[in-house]
Amino acid sequence: MEVYTRIPDLKSTLSHHRINGRTVGFVPTMGALHEGHLSLVNAAQMLCDVVVVSIFVNPIQFNNPEDLEKYPRTLRADLEKLQAIDCDMVFVPSVEEMYPEPVTETYDFGELDAVMEGPRRPGHFAGVAAVVRRLFEIVEPNKAFFGEKDFQQLAIIRQLVKQLPMDIDIIGCPVVRAKDGLALSSRNMRLSDRGRRIAPQIYATLQNAIPRSHCKSVDEVKRYVIGSLECMQVFDIEYFEIVNDTTLQPISDWSEAQGIVGCIAAWLDGVRLIDVIRFR
Ligand code: AMP
Repeated sequence: MEVYTRIPDLKSTLSHHRINGRTVGFVPTMGALHEGHLSLVNAAQMLCDVVVVSIFVNPIQFNNPEDLEKYPRTLRADLEKLQAIDCDMVFVPSVEEMYPEPVTETYDFGELDAVMEGPRRPGHFAGVAAVVRRLFEIVEPNKAFFGEKDFQQLAIIRQLVKQLPMDIDIIGCPVVRAKDGLALSSRNMRLSDRGRRIAPQIYATLQNAIPRSHCKSVDEVKRYVIGSLECMQVFDIEYFEIVNDTTLQPISDWSEAQGIVGCIAAWLDGVRLIDVIRFR
């Protein structure tokens, strides 16, 4: 496995691969890798000849400085995990390497970032778009792999490559969960023991909402999820929205869209957890 910190070195190796007709798969991450990240690498390995993983804690996508400061950094363990699954290349740039100039570009994602994470994390998706665009320009992948756990981010990246435009296949991969159902996240390691025991209630409640979605209204299901979690008196629900899976706009009736997902953000132990469930 080759580890790169400089853009020209990585680009030069990748251009050799391309000249030899190899397809490039790319998995952007912020490190603190877990099985969720590794599932993206596995998917990339199935579909591409060479796989690049980037590890970069992108400062400009953190709207909360404390979250950036507390973000886990476990580079040595990350590299061991990637080596163990035969990843080909890892790109670990510094902030200066990624942003030699201040970031000035702006993006218009229309309705997509007007809901859920968008208004609650001002600047977050602009920061995500800026880093993903730079990484795409450096790696020039054929395919890039993103988790459906960050459902809104995936929709925004699809929109980004359409807007730029860039000829990159964006592949969404299913949420990987712990045995008890908790969606794996780098932030889970910041939960207390008690928090970690309670956290699976988020997914359990989302799952219980699925049968209700066949006999109750959208509003009733929303109230069920929010009410069930809030009555445990440990979760602070930032939002739970039931949305069209393409436009991400909240629906008020199950007949309004073919693909429907529920997206939640909840605080537990001062840790912000997100999850997603498919209704249709
Ligand atoms: P992050 O390092 O949190 O920025 O995540 C990097 C990529 O891994 C993103 O595309 C995430 O959606 C994806 N990811 C994170 N957690 C999971 C998970 N539990 N299952 C699947 N993909 C995930």
